[in-house]
Amino acid sequence: MFPLLIQRLAAVTDVEEPGAEHGDLLVDGIALGVCGTDREILAGDYGTAPAGHERLVLGHESLGLVKEAAETAPRNTAAFAQRVKDLTARIDEITPRVAATAAAQERVLADLAVGELEAQKQRLASYATQARFALASLYDEAAAGGTQ
Ligand SMILES: [Zn+2]
Repeated sequence: MFPLLIQRLAAVTDVEEPGAEHGDLLVDGIALGVCGTDREILAGDYGTAPAGHERLVLGHESLGLVKEAAETAPRNTAAFAQRVKDLTARIDEITPRVAATAAAQERVLADLAVGELEAQKQRLASYATQARFALASLYDEAAAGGTQ
């Protein structure tokens, strides 16, 4: 038995405009992102065309302007606008704290690096002293007739 490898064919085609009755919103597309899910669908990992359709349309990460909205679409976006406004204020509030934390983290990392370099410098000084003693010992042995 051989494994069955299915590589789906992708195509850029025009599709019939569905109209708002098939969903809550009809959107004029402006930009479209292709994400990992789209790549997995193309690789055949999952995803099938909806019932009655030949193709699965990719592009769930998109940006556009709403042309039509079904009655079920939310009409009052004031709560959402207020939430965005509140988040903007919160972001403005924490931005200086984030910058201060980043600066503090940078100081801690700099202190750690300086400490490590100081320790390495001391180890190198110790090795230099040991090397001087070893060299002096070699001179002493040579002066005493050496054993070579
Ligand atoms: Zn996605």
